[in-house]
Amino acid sequence: MPEHSNLYIAGLWRPAQDGARREIRCPANGQLVTAAAEATAQDTHAAIAAARHAFDDGPWPHTPEPQRAQVLWRVAELIERDRKDFARAEALDTGKRLVEAEYDMDDVVACLRYYAGVGGTDSGRVVDTGRTDAISRLVYEPVGVCGLITPWNYPLLQAIWKIAPALLAGNTVILKPSELTPSTAVLLMRSLEEAGLPPGVANLVLGAGPVAGAPLAKHPDVDMVSFTGGVESGTRVMAAAAATVKRVALELGGKNPNVVFADADFDTAVDFALTAVFLHSGQVCSAGARLIVEESLHDRFVDEIVRRAERITLGGPFDPDAEAGPLISAAHRDRVEAYVAAGLAEGAVLRCGGERPRQPHLRNGYFYPPTVLDRCHSEMSVTQRESFGPVLTVETFTDEDDAVHIANDTVYGLAGAVWTTDAGRAQRVATRLRHGTIWINDYHPYVPQAEWGGMKRSGNGRELGRAGLDEYREIKHIWHNIDPRPQHWFRH
Ligand code: NAD
Repeated sequence: MPEHSNLYIAGLWRPAQDGARREIRCPANGQLVTAAAEATAQDTHAAIAAARHAFDDGPWPHTPEPQRAQVLWRVAELIERDRKDFARAEALDTGKRLVEAEYDMDDVVACLRYYAGVGGTDSGRVVDTGRTDAISRLVYEPVGVCGLITPWNYPLLQAIWKIAPALLAGNTVILKPSELTPSTAVLLMRSLEEAGLPPGVANLVLGAGPVAGAPLAKHPDVDMVSFTGGVESGTRVMAAAAATVKRVALELGGKNPNVVFADADFDTAVDFALTAVFLHSGQVCSAGARLIVEESLHDRFVDEIVRRAERITLGGPFDPDAEAGPLISAAHRDRVEAYVAAGLAEGAVLRCGGERPRQPHLRNGYFYPPTVLDRCHSEMSVTQRESFGPVLTVETFTDEDDAVHIANDTVYGLAGAVWTTDAGRAQRVATRLRHGTIWINDYHPYVPQAEWGGMKRSGNGRELGRAGLDEYREIKHIWHNIDPRPQHWFRH
């Protein structure tokens, strides 16, 4: 565990220029985890200069892709070797259960292995010119210097979803993780160093978004900014990037419908509806926080959700009985509380939760219980806004068209699910839902091979899969005249 988390710039570990540090405390109990260097804008400028130099003058962009892939493979091996340290660091920063952090590290390794496996398998293509005197090729090139800005809910996984394809494509990067969760980003830089990544190819700045992160969107020497976080910050990043026409990839929030028809397998649908919204205390961009259930099933379904939600045990990362952890910060718990209060003021019916837990062992953490707001409708703020906490809103529908209409009645479009035993209806509804990922009779699974990304205000980017790699590379057309002769277009 790093006692002091420092910045990593041009292959060197260093404190912030002004020596400022931020204390990182475990949200479950307030325990001091690390004192992280708090970068100034000048620190970020130094990281950008290092990445620019490594891109323009260093070997990485011209290293053959299979060799770049080998570095990713080695990093996967190192994270697997140090899995316990990584998971512990992540659990302490986020307050999430250690076992969940361990699963996250497995996902991190799988993502690295996926991109390592893709490396060298696609070197572009030759285009048929219909002529014998010219060859036309499409080749991939890195975008250049990429600023990668990530949130706190899955700190290392979000970073890896960006850094793995960015490095494979030959870019140089500056990673700016959430100021709340720096620890695994520090460990990642150590692994990249140990795996032999040349200095300056991956740089790390820690600190607040508007100070340490903002230059990544603004600075003319950054070619691309890839951002995962809330819509408000994402909008600012996009606006700042416009001045230099940067490539911008945004992965933003979601208000994800979980649509349950009366013919769904009852026990399975209830069970998944609970995980959909209460996993990681709802701090999941794809959380199924908007239950849309067929009117005839409503009473039985919601009674069972409430019965089980009330029994979910809260606790810290190392509590063997805990089923869900705390929220990330006091400020975030305040936001979730205000969100619930707004719902109640609008007429929602509180079925469970809604009050901070009173157990003594939870007193020093930012815990908030699983909460169900029943009898909601589309006009309420709680069905339209993201709470990013353990709060489920319940709405009802009468038929298939009504279900689709309600589920699409949102500015977001990240993910959602449909539950039914009617295969035809499942396909029809999945096709009509305007969300980037639709699960049928399931919730939450993803694979690195498939794309991840939002529609509407959930973002314009694609992560994972081939499209995820394409975010980080340019496609260039090379035309080669192999028999050049004068054309005599102009006679004299
Ligand atoms: P946030 O927007 O507050 O912060 C995200 C990151 O952006 C942090 O590193 C932050 O420091 C930085 N940042 C903030 N303002 C900035 C600015 N002006 N310039 C540059 N950087 C800036 O989000 P958060 O609270 O960390 O994360 C929660 C949000 O992330 C939720 O809305 C959630 O839905 C979303 N999210 C989306 C996905 C996805 O795949 N679509 C995945 C995880 C989280």
